[in-house]
Amino acid sequence: MSHQHTHGPGESHSHSHSHGPPQPGPQQPQQMVLPPPDPALQAMIEADFRPVPLIVNPEGPAVFCEAHKLDKCEECGQDYVNLNRLAKILASNPNLAAPPPANVVSRNLSQAVNNTKEEGNNLYKQKKHPLAIARYTMAASIAVQRPPWETNQLMREELSTIISNRSAAYCEAQDFISALVDAETVIAVRRNWSKGHFRKAKALVGMGKLEDAREALQLGLAFEPNNAELSAFYSEIEKMTESPSEKKEES
Ligand SMILES: [Zn+2]
Repeated sequence: MSHQHTHGPGESHSHSHSHGPPQPGPQQPQQMVLPPPDPALQAMIEADFRPVPLIVNPEGPAVFCEAHKLDKCEECGQDYVNLNRLAKILASNPNLAAPPPANVVSRNLSQAVNNTKEEGNNLYKQKKHPLAIARYTMAASIAVQRPPWETNQLMREELSTIISNRSAAYCEAQDFISALVDAETVIAVRRNWSKGHFRKAKALVGMGKLEDAREALQLGLAFEPNNAELSAFYSEIEKMTESPSEKKEES
């Protein structure tokens, strides 16, 4: 029941169909009546309308720039990467009438993300930190492959958890700069989550920047005043920073 056709330049239509608003035809239901177009809006659309020379890939659902046959072409100023990705997803799921609503989540993808993250967690527990970091990187790259219609919130949560774990692994591997970069990413993606601020403080302590670490924890505590992990680490840093001269005398 599915049929394929392309409209490359110079190709003729092998069958007719309308490109305009749906016209009530013999086999089309009549209840879909569109309101008349707003003339002002129509004029704006037409003023912005700019024909783009593109070619349609005869082998699959994709368009390219006409001159170079590229998905994304700087010379032509065209970028069809997202469009082609969406077309590919729709073509490989012929039973989808339209993209599913945002609360539909591909279970396989969630499972792949979770399994890969768990592998990272196990390696982390075995203190195989470089291997754990590699698994977390893999998990993150799977997580960002979610199709564009899936909920952004979910991707943020998945990604922030993975990157937070990777920050911890970097910390354990004494790579505090990478740990800090990951912590900053976690905060950027999910600002009100205590973990990002905790990881940032950990990395900063590793770098010997106690005052900055304290500020990071203060910001985290502003979002979650009762967070035990943040409070405990905060008092730990307080002890490290208070009267270093006294500490010297002790030792
Ligand atoms: Zn081009």
